[in-house]
Amino acid sequence: MITIDGSQGEGGGQILRSSLALSLVTGKPFRIEKIRARRNKPGLMRQHLTAVNAAVEVGAAEVEGNRIGSQDLVFIPKAIEAGQYHFSIGTAGSCTLVLQTVLPALCLAEGASELVLEGGTHNPHAPPFDFLARSFLPLLQRMGPKVSATLERPGFYPAGGGRFFVHIEPVSRFSRISLLERGDIVGRRASAMVARLPRSIGEREIRVVRNKLSWPAESLQVEEVAESQGPGNILTLEVASENLTEIFTGFGEWRVRAEKVASQTVKQVQDYLAAGVPVGQHLADQLLLPMALAGGGAFRTLAPSRHTTTNIEVLKEFLDIEVDMVKVAPKVWVDMVKVAPKVWEIRITGKEGDQQ
Ligand code: AMP
Repeated sequence: MITIDGSQGEGGGQILRSSLALSLVTGKPFRIEKIRARRNKPGLMRQHLTAVNAAVEVGAAEVEGNRIGSQDLVFIPKAIEAGQYHFSIGTAGSCTLVLQTVLPALCLAEGASELVLEGGTHNPHAPPFDFLARSFLPLLQRMGPKVSATLERPGFYPAGGGRFFVHIEPVSRFSRISLLERGDIVGRRASAMVARLPRSIGEREIRVVRNKLSWPAESLQVEEVAESQGPGNILTLEVASENLTEIFTGFGEWRVRAEKVASQTVKQVQDYLAAGVPVGQHLADQLLLPMALAGGGAFRTLAPSRHTTTNIEVLKEFLDIEVDMVKVAPKVWVDMVKVAPKVWEIRITGKEGDQQ
């Protein structure tokens, strides 16, 4: 049985979720120890437990250790069942991360699936709903399956109560994609969402975006959400290019000025644009798994994060793949000055037949 060290690398929930996802697709059982050892509250929290139980349901799996606080788990999948699922976290834990766990298997299942997910939809340190729906899923679709996500209402930390639906039409295998060029920028959009908070917070964030990025007025909006169980504020900056859409997010926080939230989010966009790469930091670690299941793929991105390097190690435990990460130095000119952005190319190669 494969044994995964949950304390390796970034030592968070992604090691668990990737292991579950890969186990479901390959049918290989695994044991994981020291789950989330590098987090303040190690072990399974409600969001991770929901992800484990979702994987148990989807894979008709045998499981040991699926309880809150558990740092060890054994998972033995039996058969993937497409169908109708309802996963509810019961807290504001991220339901996009629960989806991440079962999505690859359901994309390769023998029938369509309909999912209802409830919990947090716009959480710090997790893919926000818009990132999922407008950035990640369109790329996954290019790999074959048809996947759409519809938000009913957002859920913010700490109240939660968000809800979205996912429809999946599977394929028998993922196709390879390559994302080496970003192409021209074809659209920009800034949305400052405020739920049960003063509209002025969103207006202040949008003012910073307008001043620092000079995006056209019609691409900037404040979105007031009435349907939310609790207060929340999120600034979403979207850069649509010929080859993909990237999304950068900042979260309003108690005692953090709206201007600071906006400046930090703008900085992410500026770094991305200056590097001229197609794939940003978060998309990078999330594209690895479907690309590895496709048996190959490549992309250019910013300097790899620990989530990326750790995820690669987990992928290698389940799949016979090679991953090359090389620093490249494309010629980029900014204001007539030649600059050397920190660009990396990540290339995955797998043996034919890796995919189960
Ligand atoms: P972990 O910290 O191990 O639970 O993993 C968190 C996951 O959420 C990783 O796949 C991150 O790339 C992803 N993530 C965190 N913040 C964002 C964000 N702002 N946009 C998109 N994905 C994110």
